[in-house]
Amino acid sequence: MADTVNTLPFFYGNIAREEAEDYLRQAGLGNGLYLLRQSRNYLGGFALSVSHSNRCYHYTIERQVNETYAIAGGKSHRSPVDVIDYHSQEMDGLVCLLKKPCNRPKNMQPKVGPFEDLKEKLIREYVKQTWNLQGAALEQAIISQRPQLEKLIATTAHERMPWFHGPITREDSEPRLQNGARVNGKFLIRQRDMSGSYALCLLHEGQVMHYRIDRDRNEKLSIPDGKKFDTLWQLVAHYSYKPDGLLRVLTEPCPRPDGEIGPIGRPPLPRDHPGFSSAFQSAAGGIISKIKTVPIPGIKKRQGSRQTTTHKPNVYGITVPSNQIAGKEAMPMDTEVYESPYADPDELRSSKVDRSQLFLEDGELGSGNFGTVMKGIYKMRKTEKPVAVKILKNDDNNASVRDEMLREANVMQQLDNPYIVRMIGICEAENLMLVMELAELGPLNKFLQKNKQTTIKNLTELVHQVSMGMKYLEEHNFVHRDLAARNVLLVTQHYAKISDFGLSKAVAEDQNYYKAKGHGKWPVKWYAPECINYFKFSSKSDVWSFGVLMWEAYSYGQKPYKGMKGNDVMQMLESGKRMDAPVSCPPEMYDLMRTCWTYKADERPGFSVVEPRLREYYYDIAQ
Ligand code: AMP
Repeated sequence: MADTVNTLPFFYGNIAREEAEDYLRQAGLGNGLYLLRQSRNYLGGFALSVSHSNRCYHYTIERQVNETYAIAGGKSHRSPVDVIDYHSQEMDGLVCLLKKPCNRPKNMQPKVGPFEDLKEKLIREYVKQTWNLQGAALEQAIISQRPQLEKLIATTAHERMPWFHGPITREDSEPRLQNGARVNGKFLIRQRDMSGSYALCLLHEGQVMHYRIDRDRNEKLSIPDGKKFDTLWQLVAHYSYKPDGLLRVLTEPCPRPDGEIGPIGRPPLPRDHPGFSSAFQSAAGGIISKIKTVPIPGIKKRQGSRQTTTHKPNVYGITVPSNQIAGKEAMPMDTEVYESPYADPDELRSSKVDRSQLFLEDGELGSGNFGTVMKGIYKMRKTEKPVAVKILKNDDNNASVRDEMLREANVMQQLDNPYIVRMIGICEAENLMLVMELAELGPLNKFLQKNKQTTIKNLTELVHQVSMGMKYLEEHNFVHRDLAARNVLLVTQHYAKISDFGLSKAVAEDQNYYKAKGHGKWPVKWYAPECINYFKFSSKSDVWSFGVLMWEAYSYGQKPYKGMKGNDVMQMLESGKRMDAPVSCPPEMYDLMRTCWTYKADERPGFSVVEPRLREYYYDIAQ
């Protein structure tokens, strides 16, 4: 949303109310003259400034929990622009109708707030430290989880600010402010208690003033009778700009004493409080509290990581169910399978798995014509990994299936991406076995058939992850050739991986397609026309399949071209027809599917185009 709003000529970004008034004044203060700016106190919110009868009026447009926008107490709208459109027709509580936009002066870009500048750095640092990631794994984590990370950083960034001193007493805070330069306006914030209240301690004429910062029922922070804020850093930014009831403006952050560097202790996250609102729950969604002590199955603890991904009753004795954390809240980086098991230099990489270290469990995960897939545990040097083991059935006549499995292993061995199921190794014992990372929730289509309440945001998050994995394949000159929802496996409800490389091929860089010798047992409903007509397979034909996969996802696991034979599908496509949009599919996503189903491969976009389009839409609805 922010990206779309940024392009509006009357959006000024992070300017203060007084600056807004200056711009309206310069433009003549006409009745109904208006501009839009970023809210400085409500996360993701906006402010509308309007002039009427030579005066300026300001209205906060809050972003609500259900991701709609409304002026407090007013009607909800899909976007801030819709709020403006509505109020250009209806006053509905406003001082006047909105008549004329007050556009930014030429060459002025929307102003970037102080936190925006910091945000990138903080996100990067947070991901690096929390999950001990670097390089491509770090970049992929940021791309796929940006909306969650932004919210997380916004609500916890104060922990990393020099002015935040954690749970120190009033008595302890005073010498800290009195030490060193005794500059007027020098300040710190301390945590007062476990209910989420803080104190702002401010040096004024050699004396320390203490202002309580309370958290109200809606989780908003404010000093008594003061303006309300979603976050501490917004509060600090505001009072650094103007005193607004304080004895003076905040000037210099009081540094924490030597040795207290980086995030300190762990102040309670808003969601640790009994009254923690759903707005904040979603804001903090995705994080696993850093002070939990009982291990969550399937969630790793990383060496050197600040975060101990474990689980215990919180301060109020409320235990967060582990499946909620593992299935709903965990980010891909919280799981065992985000990074390759061989990313740890102490784990020697070998394509051979030692049978004595592999323990199979009862119960099948799935099956195919090669045999079965079982769950197991693989004991590595330092860790134990839950794994999926594809076991070739013992049959003297299955040489070709054996070759197929070895070819699949050969392809998988060359791939290393968080959104692709990794092979851990081959085990030649009583049977030939392919040992892979475990994606416990199984195929996407089946999951969605059983979980019809899955939100569009969640579907888009997963489909976007698949596009990231496919972009990686495209960049590394592999064609998948069997991309479908049944071959996307879920690690958690928020983490998808591409699997089944049985038909995959490496393609020559200069040729960029693979030509099959003849027709095989093909999933034709997922194939592009050139696959069927000319046996030509490329990343572009994978894009076509990806469009079908998207259709499957947004129709909650329905079968594409239901009831139609392969030939009928071909005729339909040749005649220019395509599948209709699934019932609840967002138009933006149907539009992308249609683009993936561009008849000519040359005119069809690659994953380098599809992935950013999905990303943009995902960020838009997830922010
Ligand atoms: P495949 O022949 O590779 O499609 O595997 C057949 C079935 O086994 C899949 O549909 C899944 O239900 C299951 N399966 C395969 N690989 C995995 C895995 N890595 N983790 C969990 N289940 C898997």
